[in-house]
Amino acid sequence: MKNLILFGPPAAGKGTQAKRLVDSHQMIQLSTGDMLRAAVASRSPLGLKVAGIMERGELVSDEVVIALIEERLPEAEATGGAIFDGFPRTLAQAEALDFMLKGRGAQIDKVVRLKVDDAALLERIAGRFAESGRPDDNPDSFKVRLVAYNTQTAPLLPYYQGQGKLVEVDGMGSIEDVADAIDRALAG
Ligand code: AMP
Repeated sequence: MKNLILFGPPAAGKGTQAKRLVDSHQMIQLSTGDMLRAAVASRSPLGLKVAGIMERGELVSDEVVIALIEERLPEAEATGGAIFDGFPRTLAQAEALDFMLKGRGAQIDKVVRLKVDDAALLERIAGRFAESGRPDDNPDSFKVRLVAYNTQTAPLLPYYQGQGKLVEVDGMGSIEDVADAIDRALAG
């Protein structure tokens, strides 16, 4: 089983690249954001609990997202591996993921960091505000999401660097250019 993390700030293109990797490799995409949005759409108890948190751009509790991922690990194992997209976002989540995978005789193999500068991110997200339909794609929530990334998620980079798993990819090019750069990073 091969397991990858796509790492980067909001609007860096993680979801787009994860979907492409699913098509070209035998892996499934595990996006906690997608799982949570599905819960909100279905108005499940979990959805009702997290809707406001997500809309504001804050992080949902570690406990909730760790449980969502744990549920899907058997499916990932059966498929050949997972592309984690938007998870982990805190050190507690990263440690829980390592622990859960270890229990299944697996591990994270690589962490691909998409590097995008802040100005480009803001430009990208401004284009998305109008058409995305996501309640957290607005200037106020995006600011909160960026702060959450910088304060709670970016500190994971040294964690994975220390494990020798971090590869960095320029996330500023076209979708195809970034996809090629990811392929090169994974092959290397
Ligand atoms: P995303 O689609 O990955 O940008 O996630 C959308 C929103 O879902 C985030 O702004 C958080 O509110 C919530 N979320 C998704 N993944 C996580 C996670 N791993 N930890 C905490 N909150 C998350």
